[in-house]
Amino acid sequence: MSTQIRTVTVLGAGVLGSQIAYQSAFKGFPVTVYDIDDDALAAARKRFDKLVATYRAEVPGGADGAAEAALDRLTLTTDLGQAAADADLIVEAVPEILELKRQTYQELAALAPAKTLFATNSSSLLPSDLKDATGRPDRFLAMHFANKIWFSNLAEVMGTSETDPKVFQEVVAFAEAIGMVPIEIHKEKAGYVLNTLLVPFLRAALELVAGGYAQPGDVDNTWRIGTGAPAGPFQIYDVIGLRTPYNIMVHGDDEAQQLAAWLKKNYIDKGKLGLESGQGFYKYT
Ligand code: NAD
Repeated sequence: MSTQIRTVTVLGAGVLGSQIAYQSAFKGFPVTVYDIDDDALAAARKRFDKLVATYRAEVPGGADGAAEAALDRLTLTTDLGQAAADADLIVEAVPEILELKRQTYQELAALAPAKTLFATNSSSLLPSDLKDATGRPDRFLAMHFANKIWFSNLAEVMGTSETDPKVFQEVVAFAEAIGMVPIEIHKEKAGYVLNTLLVPFLRAALELVAGGYAQPGDVDNTWRIGTGAPAGPFQIYDVIGLRTPYNIMVHGDDEAQQLAAWLKKNYIDKGKLGLESGQGFYKYT
């Protein structure tokens, strides 16, 4: 399936926005990147330079000059009007704050041409929470990427009841064009597919360890040997970083809050935050 989308804008050049922008540019799209001020754009430039190094080392074709060429297709701006002016698709990756996202869509609604499709990368909000702020609910949906987009190349595409099916398919085609495996979700579901599966799985693993039933390494061995999966739940915890699951569980039911407290006391308070800090459930050199 080929995409009609030619020009892409990404709003918010943080962890995920920078990856979405760079991956799209790597696959040949001209991408405008919007962030709020010059400091944020300076941080974005650093992220892009790191991505060049990562793509050179890890992505097929990245070492042949393609990783550097992607940089030339990125235009950075703090002017929202300029960012929206010619976009066929705007991918929004601004912080996960409902009011901030709604306000961003209200501004965009007035600035973007009628042709422009809007996609939110929100992890925890439903597109229905945002659709009325967009002024174009038929041209709006969620396209949810995973961290390390070049490796975990999923794009979960999820519309609302008002999303035009042609728009949905257009965004699926775009996801494919930038090297993602598109996952079509036919009804709104908090957590999409991946987190609907992953969150209870990780919680069950933590219950086994916090309850004193088994050690993390043995839980992971059980999962790997028993299912053939390449990684167990505690390896996954370490990659995600322990703060994110903590933040989810601390707002959950009583048992989830107890697990969050256990995780905080035994790991987070000791600086064991996962792979990035050099130690989580495992030690890394
Ligand atoms: P982040 O904090 O790393 O980046 C957010 C960026 O948005 C920053 O560069 C910030 O300067 C910018 N920003 C702030 N206010 C803005 C505004 N009004 N307009 C435009 N930009 C603004 O956040 P992130 O982790 O990249 O998350 C962004 C979105 O992606 C969230 O909706 C999150 O749920 C989603 N997401 C994150 C991950 C992840 O692993 N980090 C994975 C999937 C989806």
